[in-house]
Amino acid sequence: MSKAIIGLVAVAAVAAGAYYYVEQQKTCCAPEPAPVTKEVAMPAVDENAHDGGYNLAEQRAKIARIDMDTDTSFLTDEEKAVINKLIIAANYMSEIYLRQRNEDNPEVRAKIAASDLPNKDLLLNMFDLHFGPWDTLDEAHPFYGTKEMPKGAAFYPEDMSKEEFNSWIAAHPEDKEAFTSLYTVVRRDGDKLVAIPYREHYKEWLEPAAQALREAAEITSNPSLKDFLAKRADSFLSDEYFESEIAWMDLDGTPIEVAIGPYEVYTDGLFGYKAAYEAFITIRNPQESEAVARYKNYLRDMEANLPVDDAYKNFKRGFESPIAATEQIHGGGDNVPGVQTIAFNLPNDERVREAKGAKKVLLNNVLEAKFKLILAPMAEHILVPAQADKLMAKYMALETLFHELSHSLGPGTITKGGVETTVGAELKELYSAIEEGKADVMGVYNILFMMEKGELPKAERDNLLASYFVGIFRAMRFGTDEAHGQGAAFQYAKLKEAEAFTVDAETGLYTLDFDKLEAAVTDIVRAVVMLQGDGDYAAAKKFLDSYSSLDGAAKAAIKRTSDIPVDIQPVYPEKL
Ligand SMILES: [Zn+2]
Repeated sequence: MSKAIIGLVAVAAVAAGAYYYVEQQKTCCAPEPAPVTKEVAMPAVDENAHDGGYNLAEQRAKIARIDMDTDTSFLTDEEKAVINKLIIAANYMSEIYLRQRNEDNPEVRAKIAASDLPNKDLLLNMFDLHFGPWDTLDEAHPFYGTKEMPKGAAFYPEDMSKEEFNSWIAAHPEDKEAFTSLYTVVRRDGDKLVAIPYREHYKEWLEPAAQALREAAEITSNPSLKDFLAKRADSFLSDEYFESEIAWMDLDGTPIEVAIGPYEVYTDGLFGYKAAYEAFITIRNPQESEAVARYKNYLRDMEANLPVDDAYKNFKRGFESPIAATEQIHGGGDNVPGVQTIAFNLPNDERVREAKGAKKVLLNNVLEAKFKLILAPMAEHILVPAQADKLMAKYMALETLFHELSHSLGPGTITKGGVETTVGAELKELYSAIEEGKADVMGVYNILFMMEKGELPKAERDNLLASYFVGIFRAMRFGTDEAHGQGAAFQYAKLKEAEAFTVDAETGLYTLDFDKLEAAVTDIVRAVVMLQGDGDYAAAKKFLDSYSSLDGAAKAAIKRTSDIPVDIQPVYPEKL
C-alpha cells in the first residue's frame, strides 16, 4: 500500500524493542491487517534540542556509528559479483534521494566544504548523516543556514502551496493523474505548473543504475533474480513498476534479497504522493528464514489460541505473505539518513498485493546492532542487575517478528448491529495506539505459545519477558502522544495494575515478577482483542484514558536513559 493510499505503519518494532520515528514515519495502520510498510526503530523524542538549546555535537552523539561486518562467506563468487553491481545501483538511489530531499543539496554541501567554519567537519558529518542541512532527529531543525525544510521536499516548487496545487488541478482536471502520480515531480514553467516524469527528471542517475542492474542480471544464474533485475532496469526507464514488482514477489532460490526503486512517500510531507528512491541489499539467512517460515505455519493455531471466545477470532484472513529473515549489506537513498529501518513490508502497489500478497523483510543485523547499542544499555537503567542480564538480542528480534505477525491476528472486519465494518473504522483515531499495543503484547503471548509448542526453549521465558519489558520503555521513551508510545504506555499501566513488578525506592530499578508478568500478558491480550472485536469507541477511549499516563517511576527510568543513543548509523562495505 502506498503511503499515498494508506498511512504507513511504523511497525511497532517497539515492543519488539524497535522504536518508531514519529516525525518521519506516520504510524498508522490500515483498518485491516495493517501491513506495515516499514518498521523503524524509533528514537526518543528530544526534549531539549529546540531552538536556543540546539547543540550540534549532542545531536550527532544521539546516533551511534557502527561498522557492519556481516558474514558473507557463504556467498558464491557469482553472488558476490552480483551484489557488487547492486551496490553501484544502490548508490545511484542515494544520489537521486539527496536531490529529492532538496535539489540544492549538492551545492549546500559544497558550500560547507569550501567554508572555513570551525565546526566544518561536524557539519559535513551531520549533512551526510541526514542527507541535507536539516536534523531528522529534531523535527528538521536547520543546523546549517536558516532555511526551513520545505514540506514537499523537492517534489514540488518550494513556493507552491497546497491551495495552489489543488486549484491547478481543479482548473485542469486532465493534469490530475500526472500531478498526483507517485513518479513525477511538479515544477513551474512560466506561470504554469507542469509534471515531469521521474524517468526524465532523474535520468542522469537512473540510466547508469539501470545499466548496473542489467549487468547484475547478466551475471546471475538464478532465473528469478535475472528476471527481476532486468524488469526493474526497464522500470527505471519507463516508470512502470507493476511487472517488476510481481517479479520481485517471485524471487526464489537465491540468498540475494534486493529491493530497489521508488517506494515510500514519507518524504513528501505536503501531500504524500511522491515516492522516494531507495535500495535495500540484503542476504537471506538460511537458518533464520527456515525458522521464520515455521512460525508462520502456526498463524492459524495462534489465532485459535487467543484467550477469547471464538466469536472474537478471525479465520478469514489470508496467512500467506512471505517473510524473509535477512542481513542488510548495503542501503541506498531513503533508508540511509536518520533512523534505521529494521523491517519493511513491500510492495506498496495494491494490485500486486491482491495478486501476490506482500513480502515482509526483517533486517536482523540492524536489529542486533540496535539491541547492542540501545536496548541492552537501557536495561541497566531499568532493571535490577540480575534481571538486566537476562536480555537477549534473540528476543528483540523475535518480538519484532511476532509483533508483525500479530498485526494479522485478531479482529479486523467485524459486525456491529448487523452491519459489516472494521475495527479501524469504529475506533477511529484511537485505533493505531490500540493496534500497536496489541501487536506488542500479542507478540509476546505468541512467543510464549511457541515455547509451549517446543519451537523455542521454555527455559528462556524470563529472558523473553525481561527483553519485552525493556522494549516497552524504548517505545515510551519517544513520547506517549504517538501510537507506539501510547500502546506501550497502556501495557506498562496494565502490568503495574497486575503487580507484575516492584520498584526500588532508592535506585528506581524494577524487579519483575515473571509469573505475574506472564499472566498479565494473557489478560492484556484478552482485554485488547475484546475492545477491538466489540468495536466500541467509548470503551476504547475509557481504556486509553485510564491506562495511558506514565507514573513517576517510569518517567524517572526514562530520564536515566537519556545518554543512550536513540539510533544507529550502520556503515556498510562498498564492495564484497
Ligand atoms: Zn506495528
